[in-house]
Amino acid sequence: MSNDVLAQLVSMSRHLGDPALDYVILGEGNTSARADADTFWVKASGTELRTIDRPGFVRVSFDRALAILEASDLTKGAASLTDGEVKKRLIEARVDSATGIGPAPDDGVRPSVETVLHAICLSLEGVNFVGHTHPTAINALTCSAAFETAVSGRLFPDEIVLCGPAPVVVPYTDPGIPLAHGVRDLIERYIGEYRERPEVILMQNHGLIALGRTAQQVENITAMAVKAARVLLGTYALGGPHFLTAEAVDRIHTRPDELYRRGVIGE
Ligand SMILES: [Zn+2]
Repeated sequence: MSNDVLAQLVSMSRHLGDPALDYVILGEGNTSARADADTFWVKASGTELRTIDRPGFVRVSFDRALAILEASDLTKGAASLTDGEVKKRLIEARVDSATGIGPAPDDGVRPSVETVLHAICLSLEGVNFVGHTHPTAINALTCSAAFETAVSGRLFPDEIVLCGPAPVVVPYTDPGIPLAHGVRDLIERYIGEYRERPEVILMQNHGLIALGRTAQQVENITAMAVKAARVLLGTYALGGPHFLTAEAVDRIHTRPDELYRRGVIGE
């Protein structure tokens, strides 16, 4: 079962790393997938999505990855962990890739610095695959002065079908554990507001996270988010975006035939 998941994760990662799509270059981006109830696969530090294969992923315990978050939760009186402590805990969070039991011996392969962020995303209901990329079109938005205004509305129906009624918008935060805390809090706020989990997270001056039930869904959501970003950038040549009304967004998001389409497109 987990090997099959890993095969899908490899294929999804190579797709997201395809240079023609301009989602990432070099070692940018990271991906993950739920292996079973207790563990997940995440990209190892220092690997490239474009050429990644099975050894490019490490298997990690949810409990031990999420414990890093608790141990560094400043709002609960914890002190922030040093980079060295985080690195050590990430290595200790590894499990044996075949059995899912750990801790695994340290063979020098380290989980991505964004492992805790992936653990948070994969803990959301119906999320089995996660793709984090730095698409040029997305970062033209996230790095612009008008970022928050520009992503405050939806532009066309298929954007809503694939990417949900709104993205989670994360102000610039230091990558690693501080970013994981920020994303967790903003996802909770989003769920409180929309009564469902998000499909897309946009991180200021950083990039995109696509949350999918399947690997194909992560690819589709990423493609649509990038297309929507290109359309949005184009609107600024002709007076800026004309957003759909909240009523129109709600109508598309909840109508039965769109729910059907979402099921079809998402497979
Ligand atoms: Zn990144």
